[in-house]
Amino acid sequence: MRIVLATNNAGKLRELQAMLQPLGFSVLPKAEFTSEEVVEDGDSFVANALLKARHAAQASGLAAIADDSGIEVDALAGAPGIHSARYAGAQAGDIDNLNKLLEAMQHVPDVQRSARYRCALVYVRNAQDSAPLICEASWEGSITRVPAGTGGFGYDPMFWLSEQGCTAAEISAELKNRLSHRGQALKKLLESLSRAQAC
Ligand code: IMP
Repeated sequence: MRIVLATNNAGKLRELQAMLQPLGFSVLPKAEFTSEEVVEDGDSFVANALLKARHAAQASGLAAIADDSGIEVDALAGAPGIHSARYAGAQAGDIDNLNKLLEAMQHVPDVQRSARYRCALVYVRNAQDSAPLICEASWEGSITRVPAGTGGFGYDPMFWLSEQGCTAAEISAELKNRLSHRGQALKKLLESLSRAQAC
């Protein structure tokens, strides 16, 4: 089945393609159809994922999957949340965002450094789909004081996993896909998709 992935984020693309391709999906990045960016002005992960999925389906004429995700830090009242990609400014990259988070967390005691990644995944059959499939998941961790690891992307070098005793940038790609907010949301989405196809 040909499907378009509504993201230009290289990290997300890599993870979603690795999970979807073995299941027989032919996964095409949105960039193959349009360079236009969607204005992500929704007030939730789900609202933004819907905007992105409909836009990619419109541009490609294919069914689309969109991910909207981010990190919520309890000591920062849930920030950066839906603004994670642009936490340090409109043109910010991963390193800028990491540095801003490090600074914001500088004086926060160890016991107050809890955080979670959240992911909303949306599947639309076409741009007008009136019954999109929507699945959400989260992944609990805490914010380290010193970034570590080179795997993953985004905030992974600062996302501490107490069970693994390392950051999300220090585990294998396979383990991250099994444990992560994105991996868990995709698992739910695939289950909904197979139920929907059986109806
Ligand atoms: P979006 O493209 O608007 O959904 O923004 C997602 C942002 O959240 C990314 O740019 C990262 O900063 C952050 N993020 C989401 N998922 C992950 C992840 O798995 N690892 C690290 N950072 C993530």
